[in-house]
Amino acid sequence: MAQPLDPATRDALVERVRFYRDLGLTEFYRRPVDAARLAEWAVAATLEANAQVEQAASQPDSQYAQINPEQVLPVSILEDTTIPPRKPIAAPPQISTAAQPADPAAALALIREEIGDCTRCGLHTGRNKLVFGDGSPTARLMFIGEGPGADEDAQGLPFVGKAGQLLNNMIAAMGLKREEVYIANVVKCRPPGNRTPEPEEANTCTPFLFKQIDAVRPQVLVALGATAATYLLGQRQPLAGLRGRVHAYRGMQLIVTYHPAFLLRDPRQKKEAWADLQIAMQELGLKAPGKG
Ligand code: SF4
Repeated sequence: MAQPLDPATRDALVERVRFYRDLGLTEFYRRPVDAARLAEWAVAATLEANAQVEQAASQPDSQYAQINPEQVLPVSILEDTTIPPRKPIAAPPQISTAAQPADPAAALALIREEIGDCTRCGLHTGRNKLVFGDGSPTARLMFIGEGPGADEDAQGLPFVGKAGQLLNNMIAAMGLKREEVYIANVVKCRPPGNRTPEPEEANTCTPFLFKQIDAVRPQVLVALGATAATYLLGQRQPLAGLRGRVHAYRGMQLIVTYHPAFLLRDPRQKKEAWADLQIAMQELGLKAPGKG
């Protein structure tokens, strides 16, 4: 039986788990504990993340500088022996044969009507406002995030908190206005404590997201973070392996980048996110403002 964690180690662990999650490494707190697989996984996951952690920790002012991976990682896994088996990710519709509807705004309104005062998954119990989506129904560019946070839950709009301000800046840097793009999330109700949506919650909600995508039919989709990438692509993969390229996605182009909330925690990754957005701009034939 593992010893209880002291508060400082627990805080470091929580931050580390969040950091790994943003990198797309979710295995270690979702898989049931099995000593042999655990040891195997811990080595692989540590190797995979270490390059990024070391880079962050080399900065004297880094929030990760004080974290010792060998100290916190194995303890975190051994401590919780009650984690249920993880549920599978539902495969997205493979090929969309739907042409863009004649009236995308009306199509979106119908989808919103279909969702109604939704109680299809457990997330409805904690929500104040359902966050459907926001932006132009005829957008050429669509951003997909993970789920509403506290500000979004209060206002009923996606990306209106600090992460939303950063997303607005990213959109402006692309030479676009927020009203020109469409923004939605994997789940439409706020997960408690901003946790990652469980597969059964996301699998229940994403059919509506796919319908929204088919209504808007953007040329380019940008998945913000590992959760959006996972449910759009229908498979779990580390974010690092998905970034920096164009994925063919149901007749559209999909680009994967960091979630703005992660960029707020580690601003040095902004240049990487900007490189991803430049790929999207290239696909859309956009030039950054001020560039001829
Ligand atoms: Fe319904 Fe989606 Fe909200 Fe779950 S998250 S209650 S499926 S709208």
